[in-house]
Amino acid sequence: MKELEEFEFMGDNPQMHQAVLIPGDGIGPEVTAAVRRVLEAASVPVVWEEHQAGLAAVQAGRPLLAEETIDAIRHHRVALKGPCTTPVGEGFTSINVQLRKKLNLFAAVRPVRSLDGVPTRFENVDLVIIRENTEGLYSGVENQVTDGVVMSMKVATQVACERIARWAFRFANRRRRRRITVFHKANIMKVTDGLFLRCARKVHEQDYPNLEYQELIIDAGCMKLVQDPSQFDVLLLENLYGDVVSDLCAGLVGGLGVVPGANFGDDLAVFEAVHGSAPDIAGKGLANPLALLMSGVMMLNYLAETRSDPRCQQAADRIKAAYNRALAEGQKTRDLGGTLSTDAFADAVIARLGD
Ligand code: ATP
Repeated sequence: MKELEEFEFMGDNPQMHQAVLIPGDGIGPEVTAAVRRVLEAASVPVVWEEHQAGLAAVQAGRPLLAEETIDAIRHHRVALKGPCTTPVGEGFTSINVQLRKKLNLFAAVRPVRSLDGVPTRFENVDLVIIRENTEGLYSGVENQVTDGVVMSMKVATQVACERIARWAFRFANRRRRRRITVFHKANIMKVTDGLFLRCARKVHEQDYPNLEYQELIIDAGCMKLVQDPSQFDVLLLENLYGDVVSDLCAGLVGGLGVVPGANFGDDLAVFEAVHGSAPDIAGKGLANPLALLMSGVMMLNYLAETRSDPRCQQAADRIKAAYNRALAEGQKTRDLGGTLSTDAFADAVIARLGD
């Protein structure tokens, strides 16, 4: 196992990958615990280093997002993260956003696929959302100009726009996807969205003319998405559009309980579901752990690829087959029309892992 000897972060056990685990807030701890159980039952070669972030950290007398946690992710280069609650209209800056910015996790990837056993209006959805994760209206530059007048600044840099375009085309090319569609509003935001478009066009023309490229004004794009999502393949969006369209697309395949995600930087990645901390159902055993479990499978695929470890690929395939079987056999949580609790769904997946 030559490749294994080359791992930088083997810790005490040379056969294991070390990864940071952040349970988060709201439904985070319960879905994280359920996913951890499934991964352990599948004997994944991963050792977790657990860190608290968000309100859970504050309750434990720690900062919202400790430098130690950031450093741990930088060191291990991979993390699985539950959602952290973000106060609405007041309070501290989103921990999720802070983490993405501090670690320069510039590319969010959210695969959206129809699942057997989860009937929805469309049966053939298979698209990938790629969201620029570091700028746009998420720059957090907001202020009161004068009494009754407030403003928020949308930031776009050529470096970040080109970087995400390049990442998206490379991803599409490697995954043998056929077409990239950019959703934009450059008819109104001519400067910022205009730059985003120009960068995407440039990367397409210079480096990936083999891929189909399409631009759609976001409002028309959303209409087309809900009419027939099968016409889309890879969607490339700036930060806020990516956030909104991710939830829209989740609704096409069964909701937030079934859409995973990953945030990639140059040489590190944090895997987290698209959903938030859903405080309305927290602590009740109602949360679907599948979106985070799928994110865990994405993490294993990433480890398999970046660290040439076939065990991670095998474990990923096994877990995927198990949750697909569970769903096909009607084992579902309430959000999907079933009756299972968070833990009972995890048990159903574990029971189908096979040998
Ligand atoms: P954020 O602002 O953190 O992104 P949000 O406003 O998108 O959060 P979520 O926490 O993602 O809100 O949840 C929206 C609703 O979707 C919740 O109220 C909950 O009912 C449902 N939901 C979200 N995630 C799940 C899940 N894993 N299982 C079941 N229901 C969920």
